[in-house]
Amino acid sequence: MNKKGRKKLQKKLAQEAIYTYFDALTDLDRSLRDTYESKYISQIIKLQTSFTIKLKREEKLKICKKCLTYQTSKTQLIRFNSELKTKEFICKKCGDIRRFKYK
Ligand SMILES: [Zn+2]
Repeated sequence: MNKKGRKKLQKKLAQEAIYTYFDALTDLDRSLRDTYESKYISQIIKLQTSFTIKLKREEKLKICKKCLTYQTSKTQLIRFNSELKTKEFICKKCGDIRRFKYK
């Protein structure tokens, strides 16, 4: 396999690994969450940055890159900012805000 082909394959594998981590995060048992949550999320971020993989918006919203928390309705606050015309997703743990335009 040539270099380009190998890189493409690695990227595909990285993408699959990201899906696997997201699945694992969704099903993670509460007792294991503290131990594995941040590990899985940092793996996702590592793969994503080293292979320049774009996460979908809903995937981005599931994780807080700052404090490595899996976002649920309990850990995330959703607010509309009518001035900026954005929907804001706020991490309750670290206060990080992610904004998305709405029309
Ligand atoms: Zn956070």
